[in-house]
Amino acid sequence: MMINKNILLELKRTFGDRLIIDKSSLYVYASDAMCEFRTLPAAVVFPKTTEEVAKLIKIAYEHEIPIYPRGGGTSLSGASMVLDSQGIVVSFTKMNRLLNVYLKDLQALAEAGITIDELNLHLSQYGVFFPPDPASSPAATLGGCIAMNSGGVRAIKYGVVRNWILGLELVLPNGKVIRTGMGVFKRVAGYDLTQLIIGSEGTLALITKALIKLAPIPKYKVAMYGFFESERIAAETIYDLIISGIDLTAAEFLDRVTLRALGGFMGFKYTGNAMVLIEISGNDADFLKRELERAKRIFKEHKALEIKESKNEEEYLAIWKIRKGAAPALASLKPKYLVLDPTVPISKVPDLVEMINRICEKYGIICGTFGHMGDGNVHPNLLYDPRDKDEIERMKKAAHEIMIETIRMGGTISGEHGIGIEKAGLFKKEVGELYEVLQQLKKLFDPKNILNPGKIFIK
Ligand SMILES: Cc1cc2nc3c(=O)[nH]c(=O)nc-3n(C[C@H](O)[C@H](O)[C@H](O)COP(=O)(O)OP(=O)(O)OC[C@H]3O[C@@H](n4cnc5c(N)ncnc54)[C@H](O)[C@@H]3O)c2cc1C
Repeated sequence: MMINKNILLELKRTFGDRLIIDKSSLYVYASDAMCEFRTLPAAVVFPKTTEEVAKLIKIAYEHEIPIYPRGGGTSLSGASMVLDSQGIVVSFTKMNRLLNVYLKDLQALAEAGITIDELNLHLSQYGVFFPPDPASSPAATLGGCIAMNSGGVRAIKYGVVRNWILGLELVLPNGKVIRTGMGVFKRVAGYDLTQLIIGSEGTLALITKALIKLAPIPKYKVAMYGFFESERIAAETIYDLIISGIDLTAAEFLDRVTLRALGGFMGFKYTGNAMVLIEISGNDADFLKRELERAKRIFKEHKALEIKESKNEEEYLAIWKIRKGAAPALASLKPKYLVLDPTVPISKVPDLVEMINRICEKYGIICGTFGHMGDGNVHPNLLYDPRDKDEIERMKKAAHEIMIETIRMGGTISGEHGIGIEKAGLFKKEVGELYEVLQQLKKLFDPKNILNPGKIFIK
């Protein structure tokens, strides 16, 4: 359906100057961090209340206008991308309040548009935090992270967003406002709608508020890294750390291409061909020291070429700066990169890295791989020049083959960034006969297909 003058007038009445229709401003909302396609929406609105969200969706439902929910727009799979020029982007950035902290129960209620960093900044004064930590936390919103079920470096200890959401306030495509879940840590009363919405990529309902679970901020933390002769040895080191039951807060991996890029980008001095970075945290200094010694022993058993641990906050931050520099360092090697998020059972991680390198070599694509290896999840960054059509083709073939091989290894094509539009073509291959059941669920929630159409499922 086309957006006509009457619909625009109705939107103007509801949103006033929180409605954008001028072309130059619309550009900002056309794409997301995947940056592949660019379709301008017809309008962007910035609701401040759940009632305004409900009003918008009722208009959209009546006139069958596509709605594209948007938080920080940091999706790497094109999940927040506009696909229809008659669509409306609903930006949650003005619904960004922490509404209540229930400290005694380790819970808080927040609006969907608050960024993860803002949320944790507010929470820090109470000595608590929301543990899921995507690297995009300065811009990624709570609603966006719930819609994508995001993870991060701490997922090995704390799990992903799914593990920290107790309930949701939702606006359904027909405008009905519902609340799921409640403020208890265990509940098995009937179907779990909260968990169904988490990871649904804005295709089932709009999230307006979330009741989240909190954790006390640990008193002590230490970061440690070591270099290894090969990627396989580094991967085996991480596997042994996990199997030994060490209380890891993070277990990260960087390959030789990433190390070389970091050397050029920020003058990072390294040796060997791969790096393992871990964090251990807790409230008992002696326990932490013992765990660190155990980890060091495992590093040495795998002939770590050099080991460095943080002795204070400054050194701790300096170590993490290396890991945080990995993506920008790789981005400096070529004009563009496609980042994937294959995830396999932890025993298969050493094979995963070798498979990625073998495929990229076959297609002549430079690939730097780093990531949350402790969860079986790595990020191959396939570097390319968008002006080189042949290289784009080879890059796409390599990406496709990596995902197919990941499925063959018993893994998933997405451990972090979601399906979006990027992986919609392969999603059916991963889920098989479940695909139809999932499509039926989508139809039940959104019979007119107005919520983020074209995402997850191919049109
Ligand atoms: C530099 C960088 C680092 C990253 N690191 C990580 C990482 O470590 N771990 C990780 O998991 N991901 C990571 N990502 C991916 C991305 O940040 C996450 O997917 C994040 O959750 C997206 O949040 P957002 O607010 O930007 O959502 P958006 O990109 O705006 O939207 C993402 C999806 O959520 C939907 N959505 C947004 N808000 C709502 C709402 N209120 N209701 C319903 N649906 C909604 C959108 O329609 C879309 O489908 C990274 C991205 C970048 C650019």
